[in-house]
Amino acid sequence: MAEPLKKRAGERPRVLIVEDNPADAELAMLYLASKYSVFVADHVHAAAVMARSMEFEGILTDLTLPDAFELEAVSKLLLAAPEAAIIVVTGLDDELIGQRAVQLGAQDYLVKGRFDGDGLDRAMRYAVERKRVEKRLTQLAHYDHLTGLANRATFRDRLQMVLERARRKSGRFTVAYVDLDDFKAANDCFGHDIGDAVLREVAERLRRAVRGYDTAARLGGDEFALILDHQGDEISPKQLLERVLAAFDEPIDVRGEALRITASMGVASYPEAGTTEADLLKAADTAMFWAKDHPGTSCAVYDPAHGAEGLPRRRAELLLRQAFAAGEFVLQFQPVMCLRERQVSAVEALLRWQKPDGTLLPPASFISSLESTGLIVDVGSWVVREACRRAAEWRTQGQLVRMAVNISSRQFETDGLLATIEESLSTHGLPAGALEVEITESLLMRDTAQTKRTLRGLKDLGVRLSIDDFGTGYSSLAYLHRFSVDALKIDRSFISRLDDLEGATLTSAIIGMGHRLGLEVVAEGVETTSQLEQLCAHGCDFGQGFLFGRPAFDWRSAA
Ligand code: C2E
Ligand code: CA
Ligand code: CA
Repeated sequence: MAEPLKKRAGERPRVLIVEDNPADAELAMLYLASKYSVFVADHVHAAAVMARSMEFEGILTDLTLPDAFELEAVSKLLLAAPEAAIIVVTGLDDELIGQRAVQLGAQDYLVKGRFDGDGLDRAMRYAVERKRVEKRLTQLAHYDHLTGLANRATFRDRLQMVLERARRKSGRFTVAYVDLDDFKAANDCFGHDIGDAVLREVAERLRRAVRGYDTAARLGGDEFALILDHQGDEISPKQLLERVLAAFDEPIDVRGEALRITASMGVASYPEAGTTEADLLKAADTAMFWAKDHPGTSCAVYDPAHGAEGLPRRRAELLLRQAFAAGEFVLQFQPVMCLRERQVSAVEALLRWQKPDGTLLPPASFISSLESTGLIVDVGSWVVREACRRAAEWRTQGQLVRMAVNISSRQFETDGLLATIEESLSTHGLPAGALEVEITESLLMRDTAQTKRTLRGLKDLGVRLSIDDFGTGYSSLAYLHRFSVDALKIDRSFISRLDDLEGATLTSAIIGMGHRLGLEVVAEGVETTSQLEQLCAHGCDFGQGFLFGRPAFDWRSAA
């Protein structure tokens, strides 16, 4: 298909009006003509044809058109003009359909006869801004910030795609986990800057080792993964793996120091090692741990015999179970400040593993094991109960702060969560509004019957709901609206980029869009006064971060 005709510099942005009533079309045209080049189509098919040949910044569409029944117009326009912001115009008693259009992907809706020139102008500006931000956030959500490789979510999406194709066409492919050896030690020893430089270089070498249609991803920390397609046989899978390993032969030069980095690789091929996503990943993981446990082996191909030796995982489970039974899991609390009143309005409970010698391990070092072993359900229930107990204790001392707890998706999808929350609230005589549950966007997007039930249950109880790490997932504001979320927590990565133009623009856009949806906005990871000033200037409601207080056993000593 030919590229749609782009707007030339200096040219006014184009807007397309899709409306079959000439009087309505003319009125909208009149409203928009001072700022935009306005085009009109009187049915959806004509609009789609125009949108494919010309780039529009915005589309204003009626929903009663001769060739599309209601929302059909929106889906067709989304397909024909994926880059354009869409505003629908609904009838008087039809606001509900406007909301559904927004859920479908439109940016806004207006009620016919209820808007004037200014209203339309403003709606169009907001819609265009919102579309732009949503696009940028989606892009950021799919790639790892540090290395530019695909991130975990994208890796899973691609794996699913490759798997489906292999199933249909009896194809073959290989999944490989690549984990750097002793990276943590190197990072601690040389510092994070050098660590980051190493990760970027490793990423670059992996990218060069694989072919254009393969996937190289960074799953987090020093963990990488590859999907190697076996289509086309210019190079055998074995040769390809050798090329990947060879990427670690040359020492990495960082600021004049030659660092030798080695990696352990676990390899699993479809269909021998497994025929489902979960089985393949488990196989690659097992092989990788096997390689790590056998010094000298840098690459292990999954062999069912390793399954029995998949000890590291089981060892981890046993250790965690014992730790939990021994009461080694503890909570720290971090204050959340109301930026207007400059006082603590909530505290967030953060889980720690306290070793008998007193060292505190952060969740990053054990949460994923708790999740993969299912232990997160028991530990998570304990977190809810313990957090409620502490909140009640502080209340009796006159400290009326809300308590926020993190709930992982695995936990959210169990039946017991609601009961645990209800019981904890009533045991400690806490009002439901004193509790806030933090979940991620990806959990909302999963949209299963179970998550819907739990979400509705929480709302019925009156528990507050906030979206954690906003901006790192799908960033679909429409979804937040639909699930009556109370607050957005902007991910730390945006706050740390407030000094650059894009970071500042995105943050202020998220705050503005959040407010327009009636949500409160919390900034995470506020570390400097200059960040605080900017957030206040953008009208952010709450802030959390080292500037206000680090997580501590008693937040009152931290603040
Ligand atoms: P989160 O929910 O985003 O929690 C905020 C994290 O940011 C905490 O890390 C906190 O210590 C850190 N932080 C706060 N302010 C600043 C700052 O100004 N600068 C920097 N650099 N960091 C800051 P932590 O405690 O290591 O927790 C990591 C993650 O583990 C949490 O991220 C949360 O997703 C998860 N987590 C913690 N406790 C629980 C829990 O009880 N259950 C579940 N399911 N997940 C938990
Ligand atoms: Ca959180
Ligand atoms: Ca967060």
